[in-house]
Amino acid sequence: MPRMLPPISRRAALAFAAVATGALAAERFASPCGCAFAAQPEGMVLEEVGPGIHVYRAPYELVGPANGGAIANMAVVVGGEAAAIIDTGNSHLAGARLREAAARVTDRPLRYVINTHMHPDHVLGNSAFAGEGVRFVGHRKLPRALSVRADTYLAQAERLLGPEAEGTRIVLPDLLVETTLTLDLGGRALELEAHPTAHTDNDLSVRDGATGLWFLGDLLFVGHVPTLDGSLLGWIGQLDTLESRAAAGVIPGHGPARVSWPDAAGPERAYLEALRDDVRRLIAGGVPMGQAAAEAGRAQAAGWALFDEFASRNAIAAYHELEWE
Ligand SMILES: [Zn+2]
Repeated sequence: MPRMLPPISRRAALAFAAVATGALAAERFASPCGCAFAAQPEGMVLEEVGPGIHVYRAPYELVGPANGGAIANMAVVVGGEAAAIIDTGNSHLAGARLREAAARVTDRPLRYVINTHMHPDHVLGNSAFAGEGVRFVGHRKLPRALSVRADTYLAQAERLLGPEAEGTRIVLPDLLVETTLTLDLGGRALELEAHPTAHTDNDLSVRDGATGLWFLGDLLFVGHVPTLDGSLLGWIGQLDTLESRAAAGVIPGHGPARVSWPDAAGPERAYLEALRDDVRRLIAGGVPMGQAAAEAGRAQAAGWALFDEFASRNAIAAYHELEWE
């Protein structure tokens, strides 16, 4: 069984106990909070972007009751013998909706849940998949990164989602990727790669050998402004590496379900490089952080959803990184 951290509420703790004993397996798609799918009766819609690759293309939104926490792209990959999930949403409810959608496209047993990195919109739905035979897979640095942020992430989910956060808890990976790891789904190999610090310090990509499609997680944002929680210089450097590799197409952590590569990285690179150059110039000019936060990267605002929500914190993160160069 994967390790689990303390849940948000006593009721959620009971749900945790049910999962731990396998009781939930009998009610495959029921939600322990009873809130199930009433808010989205049509269910989560998946788009098949390649044979056996089904992607939920998330809206460009902040977490809220209307989206149930499903604000990051998620996917189901179906092999000859088993299926894998890539990312799980910001709540147990989001994960449960994905699990229900997965059951509509495959009856293969679910063998792996892969988290592309620690951020709550990619991992907090893990609990919906906990059960016998399911392995949770992540970067070698994911367990520590997620553990130290667990209380913050859970409190935030509860604040933003209210009752729709019920049942949400942390499920840590039990299969770690040191550098690379191949997962076999039966006639379909997934190549996982642990990247150096970029968007976060635990970014993981997943390449599908059968189609040449590449899941980049939040190493790639398209349309939704990039959010920096790792290393700005590391991210730009990692883009150099990623862009030198061919792919039939890529699936970003936020953006359309499938985009072409490497041209899809252009706008993200332009924003990150402008942020770097602006922050360096402001630091050199003796501009304090508060003022830099209001200025850096702002010329890049056009074309990005949620720019105002993240621009200042990106600039502050960049300032912290670059002020000691
Ligand atoms: Zn992220």
